[in-house]
Amino acid sequence: MNKSATIAVIGAGPVGLEAARQAIEAGYQVKLFEKGEIACAVRKWGHVRLFSPYEMNTTVGGRALIADKGREAGSCETAAEFIESYLLPLSRWISTIAQVFTHTTVNKISRGDLLKGDAIGSRSNQEQPFRLLIENAAGEQIEQADFVLDCSGVTDQPNWLGAGGIPCPGEKEFRNKIIYGLPNRGQNFELENCASVFIVGAGYSAATLVNELFQQKSEESGCNIFWVTRNSHSSGPLRVIKDDSLPERERLAVNTNQLALSTRKNLHWISNSVIERLGTAHSDDRVEVTVRNLETSQLKTIEVERVVACTGYHPDLSLTSELQIHECYATSGPMKLAASLLGQRGLDCTKISVSDTETLKNPETGYYFLGARSYGRNSQFLMQTGYQQVQIVLELINQSLEPFP
Ligand SMILES: Cc1cc2nc3c(=O)[nH]c(=O)nc-3n(C[C@H](O)[C@H](O)[C@H](O)COP(=O)(O)OP(=O)(O)OC[C@H]3O[C@@H](n4cnc5c(N)ncnc54)[C@H](O)[C@@H]3O)c2cc1C
Repeated sequence: MNKSATIAVIGAGPVGLEAARQAIEAGYQVKLFEKGEIACAVRKWGHVRLFSPYEMNTTVGGRALIADKGREAGSCETAAEFIESYLLPLSRWISTIAQVFTHTTVNKISRGDLLKGDAIGSRSNQEQPFRLLIENAAGEQIEQADFVLDCSGVTDQPNWLGAGGIPCPGEKEFRNKIIYGLPNRGQNFELENCASVFIVGAGYSAATLVNELFQQKSEESGCNIFWVTRNSHSSGPLRVIKDDSLPERERLAVNTNQLALSTRKNLHWISNSVIERLGTAHSDDRVEVTVRNLETSQLKTIEVERVVACTGYHPDLSLTSELQIHECYATSGPMKLAASLLGQRGLDCTKISVSDTETLKNPETGYYFLGARSYGRNSQFLMQTGYQQVQIVLELINQSLEPFP
C-alpha cells in the first residue's frame, strides 16, 4: 500500500472537512461521507455566537484555499456565519478533488471479512481494508477504505433528562414536550411563544439558552423560566475560568451567573437537584416536572409548557461495534485519549495537550477517532484540538506507509 491508499472520512463537520483537506493535500484518495448536509451538526446551533475566534476555528491551510477576507483578531462569528464564510467554501474545494457523499449515512464498519474476535492484535489494513456499510437514497452498498477517520461527532445522541443519566418515568410519554440539546431556530420560535420553560443542565448550552430567553422574556411578560442544575455553587451554576483566554466564553459564564443569582422574579434557579419524573399536568399544553433535591430528597412539582434537556451528548457506539476498539468506561471515548484527558481534568480546554501520538491510536490499526467524537461524553472539545489531531494522525498514516529502510 502506498499513497494511493484510500482514506474514508466520516462526517463533514469542521474536523471531518479539515481531515479531508489534509488527506487530499497529502496525496490520498479521499471519500467523505456525511449523513446530512455539509456541517449539519453545526447548523443546528447556527444562531449561536462561537466563543472561540475565527483564527482558532480555521487553519492556515484551509484559509489558503478559500477567498479568505481575514478578520479582526479575536472576533467571534455566529456558527451560521462560520459555515458560510469558511466551512462551505472549504467543502466546495474538497468536492472538486475527492468523492463527497452527502445525505449518506455510514451505518456499520467491519475490518474486511474478519469478525470482532478474529486476529486479535494482528489486524492489518494491508490485508483487510475496512468495509463501510453506507446508506443513501439509492439504497445500501459497501465502500472500502484502507484508513478510516471517524469525525462523526456526538450531537445526534443527546443524553436523557432523568437522574443518573437514564430516562425518568414519563420521559418517553412526554417526548413531545421535550427539546433535547440547544434549541434550533424553529424550536426557539416555539419557546418564544411559551409562558413557562424548564431548562436542565449546567453547561454552556444551558447558559446560552438562559441568556437568550432572558432577553426575550421580560418580568412583565409573565413567562417563567425554571433552571435546574445538579451543582449548587454559591457563585452561580457556571464555572468561570480564571483569566479565561476566550473572552466570549467568560462573558457568557459571568452574565449567566449574575442572572441566576439575580432577584428577577421570572427566572428560578433550582440548584442541587435532579429530575425525578414527568407527569400529566392540569392542561394538555403542559407537562408536570418533579425535581428532587439531592441533599434533602425533598420533591417539588412545577407545571411548564416545554422542557429543554441541555444534558450533554454521547457517541454512537454501534457504528464501530464490530471493530476492536478499546473504549473508556467513563466517557465512551477511545481509551488512551480518554485516560490522558482524565489526567488533565479541571484544566481549561484551551490548555489541554493532544501532542502525544500514542493517545490517538487504538487496537484497530488504521481506525482513528478525531474531533468531538474522540472526546466521547467529555464536552470540553474545541475545533482547534481536532485540527491538531488531524495533523498528528496524517503523520502517523504517512509513517505507516513508508517503506522500511
Ligand atoms: C452550542 C455549541 C457551541 C459550541 N461552540 C464552540 C466554539 O465556540 N468553539 C469550538 O471550538 N467548539 C464549539 N463547540 C463544540 C463543537 O461541537 C465542535 O467544536 C465542532 O462542531 C466539532 O466538530 P466535529 O467535526 O468534530 O463534529 P460535528 O460538528 O458534530 O460534525 C460531525 C458530523 O458527522 C456527521 N455524522 C455523524 N454520524 C454520521 C454517520 N454515521 N455517517 C455519516 N455522517 C455522520 C454529522 O451529521 C455531522 O455533520 C460548540 C458546541 C455546541 C453544541
